[in-house]
Amino acid sequence: MSAPPLATSFLHNQNFLDVLYIVAFSLFIQGLRGLSGPRTAVRGNRTAAVGMAIAVIATLLNPNEGNWGLIALGMALGVAVGVPAARQVKMTAMPQMVALFNGVGGGAVFLISWAEFRLTDGYSHTATYIAIFSLFAAIVGSVSFWGSNIAFGKLQEILPGRPISLGAAQQIVNLVLLILAVAAGIDIAAGNHSELLFIGLLVCAALLGNAVVLPIGGADMPVVISMLNAFTGLSAAATGIALNNTALIVAGMIVGASGSILTNLMAVAMNRSIPAIVAGGFGGGGAIEGAQGAGEHAGTVRSTSAADAAIQLAYASRVMIVPGYGMAVAQAQHAVAELTKELQKRGVEIGYAIHPVAGRMPGHMNVLLAEADVPYDQLEEMDEANQEFARTDVSLVIGANDVTNPAAKNTPSSPIYGMPILEVSNSHSVIVIKRSMNPGFAGIENELYYEPETTMLFGDAKSAVSEITAELAQI
Ligand code: NAP
Repeated sequence: MSAPPLATSFLHNQNFLDVLYIVAFSLFIQGLRGLSGPRTAVRGNRTAAVGMAIAVIATLLNPNEGNWGLIALGMALGVAVGVPAARQVKMTAMPQMVALFNGVGGGAVFLISWAEFRLTDGYSHTATYIAIFSLFAAIVGSVSFWGSNIAFGKLQEILPGRPISLGAAQQIVNLVLLILAVAAGIDIAAGNHSELLFIGLLVCAALLGNAVVLPIGGADMPVVISMLNAFTGLSAAATGIALNNTALIVAGMIVGASGSILTNLMAVAMNRSIPAIVAGGFGGGGAIEGAQGAGEHAGTVRSTSAADAAIQLAYASRVMIVPGYGMAVAQAQHAVAELTKELQKRGVEIGYAIHPVAGRMPGHMNVLLAEADVPYDQLEEMDEANQEFARTDVSLVIGANDVTNPAAKNTPSSPIYGMPILEVSNSHSVIVIKRSMNPGFAGIENELYYEPETTMLFGDAKSAVSEITAELAQI
C-alpha cells in the first residue's frame, strides 16, 4: 500500500525547503565561527559540511529538479575526483588545490548562467534584474574560472611562475576586454537575445581572467587565489539571486566577504597593496629592484654544528622556535615536536613564534604544528612573540627567512620594508636551520644571518632537528 501523498508532500513544500536552507546557512555561519580557532577548526569544518549536505538535499527536493541520472553522474564524478585529491594533497600544495576547487566554483557559476540564458530564450521571460544578476555571474564566474586555472598552473609549475605580460599595453588590453564583456552584458539585458553575443561575453571574460593573472608572479599567487575566491563567492551570490536560492545567496556572500577580508589581511601582513599585487611583477623568480641578492652581503656568517646547537639549547632556560616555509617543505614538524619535548623534559620553557604569513598560506604553521600535536598554548602570535624575544635565550629559526628579515624594519629600499617581522635578533642568541645561503620567497638577502648573535646550522630541517635531538641525548 503506498503512503498517502500528504505524508510526503511537505518534503516538496517551498516553506519546508526554506526552513532547510535557513538551517543550512545557520550551520555555515556556525562552522565559520569554529574556523576562527585551532581547537574548534575541525568541528567547524564538519558543521559547515553538514550545512552544505542539507543545502544539497533541499535543492534536490525542489519539485523543479530535473534529470536525476545527470545529477547522480555529476555527484559521483565530483566525489570520485574530489575525495582522493583532498586526501592525498600535500600541505605545501594546498594553495594550488584551493585554486583548482575555486576555479570549479567559478566554472559552475558561468555554466548555470549560460543554462539560464538558454532556458529563458535569452532572458526574454524573466525580469530585467534577474538577467542583470545572471550576466554579472557569467562575467565574474568566467574570470574566476580562467584566472584560478592560471594560478593553479603557475603554482603547480605547469606554467612558468614568472610574470607573463604585454608590458605597458597590458592594462589597456585588460580595460578593453572588461568594457567589451560589460557592453555585451548591457546589450543582452536590454533585450538582445543572441546566443552568439552571450558566448562573446564569456570569451571576453575568459581572456580577461587569463590577462589579469598571467602577469602576476607565482609568489603572489596565494593572495590572488584568495581574491579570486572572493570573486567566485560574489558570482555565486548573484546566481543565487537569479535562481531565487537563499542558501546560494548566503553561502556566496560568506565566501565573498571572508575571501575579501583574507585577501586584505594577507596583503597587510606582506605590506603589499592589492593594486600592486594585481599590477604584477613581484616574486616571479627574477631579481627585485632595490633588493640585495644572495651572496652580495659584505658581512661574515658563522656556522655551527648539531652538537654545539644541542649544548646551547640544553642550557637555555627559554627557547623560541620560529618555523617557516622550510619546515613545511622538509615535513619537519614531528621532529621539531620531538626536540621540544626533550628540551621540556630538561626544564626548558618552549614557545613557538608564529608569523601570519610564514609558509605559503594563512595558518600554514598552525596546521602543521597541530598535526604534530604541539600544544596550542605554546603557539604565540607575532605581537605576543615579539614581546618575549628579549627574555629568550635561544631562538631556533627552522626554515623561516623573510618573516625574520630585519631589512623590513631597517632598510627603506628593501621590497619587504614595512612588513611586520618576528624580531628574533632581540633574543640572546639565534640558530638558523636552512640548507644554504639562498634567499626565501622575496628573493632577498637576510641581514639576520650576519648579525653577531646568529649562527647557521646548514642542512635539511628534518635531518638537522633530528640530529640535534640525538646529540641532546648524549648531554
Ligand atoms: P621563506 O622566506 O620563503 O624562506 C623559506 C626558507 O626555507 C628558504 O630560505 C629556504 O632556504 C629554506 N628551506 C627550504 N627548504 C628547506 C628544507 N628542506 N630544510 C631547511 N630549510 C629549507 O619562508 P618564510 O620565512 O616562511 O616566509 C614566507 C614568505 O612567503 C613570506 O615572504 C611571505 O610574504 C610569503 N607568502 C606567504 C603567504 C602565506 O599566506 N603564508 C602567502 C603568500 C606569500 P634554503 O633554500 O637555503 O634551504
